[in-house]
Amino acid sequence: MSDFEEMIGEWGDRYFDPKGLGGWSPMLEAALERFKSLSAKRSAQCAAPEHKVAIGWTEDKDFNAFAGTTEAGDLIAIAVNVPVSLSLLFRRVLLFKEFLPFLEGLPYDQVEPAPLPPEGLLFSLDHGPSHVAGDHGPLRGRLANFMTQIALDYVFMHELGHIWNGHTSLMKERYGLGIVEEIERDNNLPVSAIDRQTIEMDADCFAARHMSTAELLEREWLPANPAWEAEFGENSTYTIIRNIAIYLALRCFNEAASLVDMGSRFYPPVAVRQFYVAGTWFAAMSKDKEKEFSEFGRMIVPIIQAGEEAFSFLTGKPVDAAGAKLAYSREGIDYGNTLLRNWARLRPQLDPLKRGGTLAPIQSL
Ligand SMILES: [Zn+2]
Repeated sequence: MSDFEEMIGEWGDRYFDPKGLGGWSPMLEAALERFKSLSAKRSAQCAAPEHKVAIGWTEDKDFNAFAGTTEAGDLIAIAVNVPVSLSLLFRRVLLFKEFLPFLEGLPYDQVEPAPLPPEGLLFSLDHGPSHVAGDHGPLRGRLANFMTQIALDYVFMHELGHIWNGHTSLMKERYGLGIVEEIERDNNLPVSAIDRQTIEMDADCFAARHMSTAELLEREWLPANPAWEAEFGENSTYTIIRNIAIYLALRCFNEAASLVDMGSRFYPPVAVRQFYVAGTWFAAMSKDKEKEFSEFGRMIVPIIQAGEEAFSFLTGKPVDAAGAKLAYSREGIDYGNTLLRNWARLRPQLDPLKRGGTLAPIQSL
């Protein structure tokens, strides 16, 4: 029995054996191995090699993942609905010719999938994991798997951020229950909306910083988009595609792209989230490559644009221009600054609770 199998019962959840989902099992097993190695790498980098996180899948049919801390240790549980829903989402969107039109490979007579309501995109297992009908051709099929992997790694690294940056410990200290849960259908932790949104932003930045410098092999198969490469430089296609995968996943998690009802929401609006994800990502890249941050900064435009178009294809709703504009609007920037100020206020509480390394470098943005 793994540590995870032993610990998960304590959380009122049930272990899911990755071998138990037929054709989906290879993806579940491969992702779990990747998560474990990402976690071990982080522990080694931060000179805390003995620090372990128990990681595994749960049976939960909600679109949920959580990070938890008890006396027994740290744990990350991801509902098996998450990888299945994300995989179906990327397979579905890549059947639209207008999504990333620089890619070729769709058969001439490919029929576009019918629109789904946003909940249908997230809770695939509610209806049984149906396969998307359609022929992607080898390139788009491979890209669907690649984007699924990126989005899944992002979900995992975000959860790891909740642990490493002391969020679960802060919850334990404050409320006696060391948990941060995503997309729980009736989540009612006593934490205030602003604190909750701040720790979500902090976890996003943790994930983005790690993913920006992650080495991913075999990217030569991905054709370059000449327009992006001309405007943003060599290999920008690769960076933009990975960020679109993250944006589209975040877009599906969030109920509204605008600033309505912020006093009762758990996440900042998606464009504000992506603004900090991409900002952290590009800051790490520019440090790495000794290039000006501004040379990368403008890449956020095609990322949000393609992500919003993808969401529109999937749901049949018109593109929400307000969502994309929010990242640049005065009120969007003001809202981001409010989160940053709150983060600075929380930081002294989080600092002694973190697992190792330094807190996400939000202050440098
Ligand atoms: Zn979170």
